[in-house]
Amino acid sequence: MKNIKGIRAQFPILERVTPTGKPLIYLDSAATALKPQCVIDAVTDVLTNRTANIHRSVHFLGDEATELYESTRDIVAAFIGSEANEIVFLRNTTEGLNLVAKAFSGKGRIISSVGEHHSNYLPWQEHDVHRLSLDDNGDINWFELEQELSQGDVALVSLAHSSNVTGYMLDLEKLVNMCHSSGAKVMIDGAQSIPHTQIDVAKIQCDFLVFSGHKLGAPSGVGVLFGKAELLEEMDYWLHGGSTVESVTQHSIEAKNSPWKFEAGTPAIESVVGLQAAILFLLDLGMDNVESHFKSLSEYTSICLRENLPLVNVIGGIDKLQGPFSLTLPGISPHIVARGLSDRYGICLRSGFHCAQPLHDFYNVGASIRLSFWLYNTKDEIEQAIKGVANFINLVK
Ligand code: PMP
Repeated sequence: MKNIKGIRAQFPILERVTPTGKPLIYLDSAATALKPQCVIDAVTDVLTNRTANIHRSVHFLGDEATELYESTRDIVAAFIGSEANEIVFLRNTTEGLNLVAKAFSGKGRIISSVGEHHSNYLPWQEHDVHRLSLDDNGDINWFELEQELSQGDVALVSLAHSSNVTGYMLDLEKLVNMCHSSGAKVMIDGAQSIPHTQIDVAKIQCDFLVFSGHKLGAPSGVGVLFGKAELLEEMDYWLHGGSTVESVTQHSIEAKNSPWKFEAGTPAIESVVGLQAAILFLLDLGMDNVESHFKSLSEYTSICLRENLPLVNVIGGIDKLQGPFSLTLPGISPHIVARGLSDRYGICLRSGFHCAQPLHDFYNVGASIRLSFWLYNTKDEIEQAIKGVANFINLVK
């Protein structure tokens, strides 16, 4: 990334010194991304100058808050190539996946995979679901998918675009073509891919896409469900209350159109406005630049791992095109390493199953330690983290 110094300067938390007096090295962006100053400013501005509820208060503050909230819908739509009325604001990816799962209850068979995040695994427990197996790189078994589709009655195929453990990027065009030719709808869990990949739903033609604002620099509390207009219109909403109806009398209820019928109660207004700022920040940097920086950090991680940790198992293989990188370590608990990296070197990364326990189970591996990066990270930080992990492994040899 050109001007990485200038980019880092826009993330005030990177100035922080850790409790043990080290500069912060943040390699946990797959869990949540750091927030740039423009997002902090946008949220502060709403809280300081524009506090009002939306869609109801007829005063100038209500107008301004509503305008900011609704203009975010336009910006998200432009960002992913949809129409504004196809964008639903929910709390996070998890809520979007659950909403669609509930709407598809009893509508036919579901296909997903063993590699999904728990948020795209557990909502299907009550459905007639088939979970595809994976190959050694983390790709789905396409032959199995074809066979399952050919049996008919598949209502929906729900898969992650990019795994939060292996980083494997699914071929979306191939997936959608295959599923649509069998009459199945497709939902993409874009939680991990959208922060570093340009997604154009008009081109891909997926039926649903879900992602969380907090993984692309926005505050937590807002997630996006994209759904094709005609599908959202016929879908049931599950939360009922203020903002979901045009009118209610003692004898009748007239629901609002989508997307508003799905946004019950007062939403996370300041988080939505923060999402707008985060997307404008990314567009200003250019998604192409963000993506190529991500790929070059991934390439460097493979090289650095080979040099420093040749015996460590990388789930989904070491030569991946895109992170994150999840490592299972010989003879030492990943939690102890993560704690030690934080306390000794100021390095923050994640240990455990990363909410993808069935994936670890499928590959028959234990908990792992995960390095995940984003647009503010440098090769030097990755090298320090990998050398730090190597130090801990050497200690227990
Ligand atoms: N899917 C994937 C692939 C994820 O990585 C995550 C978050 N780790 C989720 C879903 C859930 O996202 P959230 O917690 O924001 O709902």
